[in-house]
Amino acid sequence: MQRLDRFLSEAGVASRRELRAIIRAGRVRVNDVPASAPEQKIDETSDRVTLDGEAVGPRGPVVLLLHKPTGYVTSTDDPRDRTVMELLPPQYRGLAPVGRLDKDTSGLLLLTDDGQLAHRLISPRHAVWKIYDAVHEGEAGEADCAAFRAGLTLRDGTVCRPAYLRPLGPGRSLVAVCEGKYHQVRRMLASRGMPVTALRRIAEGGLELGALPMGMTRELTCGEIRLLE
Ligand code: URA
Repeated sequence: MQRLDRFLSEAGVASRRELRAIIRAGRVRVNDVPASAPEQKIDETSDRVTLDGEAVGPRGPVVLLLHKPTGYVTSTDDPRDRTVMELLPPQYRGLAPVGRLDKDTSGLLLLTDDGQLAHRLISPRHAVWKIYDAVHEGEAGEADCAAFRAGLTLRDGTVCRPAYLRPLGPGRSLVAVCEGKYHQVRRMLASRGMPVTALRRIAEGGLELGALPMGMTRELTCGEIRLLE
């Protein structure tokens, strides 16, 4: 059993204070009977709660997409650097980043309160493709694309899974990888003689950064969360 106002605020309907007025106005019904008070007890597993005639259910997991700027570390706290948590609106400060982007990398970063989803997305067994827009020295050619497809061996002997490189012109390429080794894309391009000067993640697992302004967040829809699962 749970208090009605708590159930409704956890479902994201409104704050507990706003709910007082909403309930007193008779807009909330429990099993089709107008709710009597915010402290009314409900059984969240069997009672049907509606607001203005629409069913209200428990809130599912939250997955947030952040357009990370450079200069922020992907961490929940850090003694020296600014963290990506500082960019989040206050109600999202309990989420945790899914994987990481380097301090000098910008772009699409997911954060969630769903530990299982986070685990699946970073597990090497679930190959989630990530696409990066890289600005680099030199110009990628067919031999570089073939080496990426075959699976690169980095200078320290690390073996990478097959990946894709698409040159966009002198000094700029798209790179798609399905793993997340330390500084992976920078090290892959450096191993082919093309050190990276700027890196931005533009897509992950079917989700695109799109036109979301830098430093801003948006919640994924249920359909988008399913895309990731
Ligand atoms: N590869 C990198 O080198 N850096 C990132 O932040 C992500 C992928």
